Amino acid sequence: MTECPFCRIFAGDIPADVVYSDDSVLAFRDISPQAPVHVLVIPRRHYADIAEVAAADPGLVGAMVAGAAAVAAELMPAGAGHRLIFNTGADAGQTVFHAHLHLLAGATLGRAML
Ligand code: AMP
Ligand code: ZN
Repeated sequence: MTECPFCRIFAGDIPADVVYSDDSVLAFRDISPQAPVHVLVIPRRHYADIAEVAAADPGLVGAMVAGAAAVAAELMPAGAGHRLIFNTGADAGQTVFHAHLHLLAGATLGRAML
């Protein structure tokens, strides 16, 4: 069995509050939200981080950002802002090594970094 928690979500081993899905990506609410809306957008295929995604399949980076835009359009009022973050590597605070895009919204976001 895979050790990757996000691959285990695809396998159905770990439940997730899914808010968006398409052929390339899945989006679900973060288990430890840092803003009123905190969603992770992940590729269906396992890559360790966004640099690996960009090297192997640049179009998939676009699919992840497009997925986040679809989530924002679905969950947020028109015109509301949101923040997108990729943490790449432990130094940057990455803790799950399956590439993911954080979508943060629903509040006036300060300068503090995730
Ligand atoms: P990062 O620090 O950029 O690697 O972010 C990983 C994120 O994944 C954190 O914000 C965690 O709260 C979140 N997370 C870890 N496991 C789960 C899970 N099973 N379901 C939802 N979010 C998770
Ligand atoms: Zn994975």
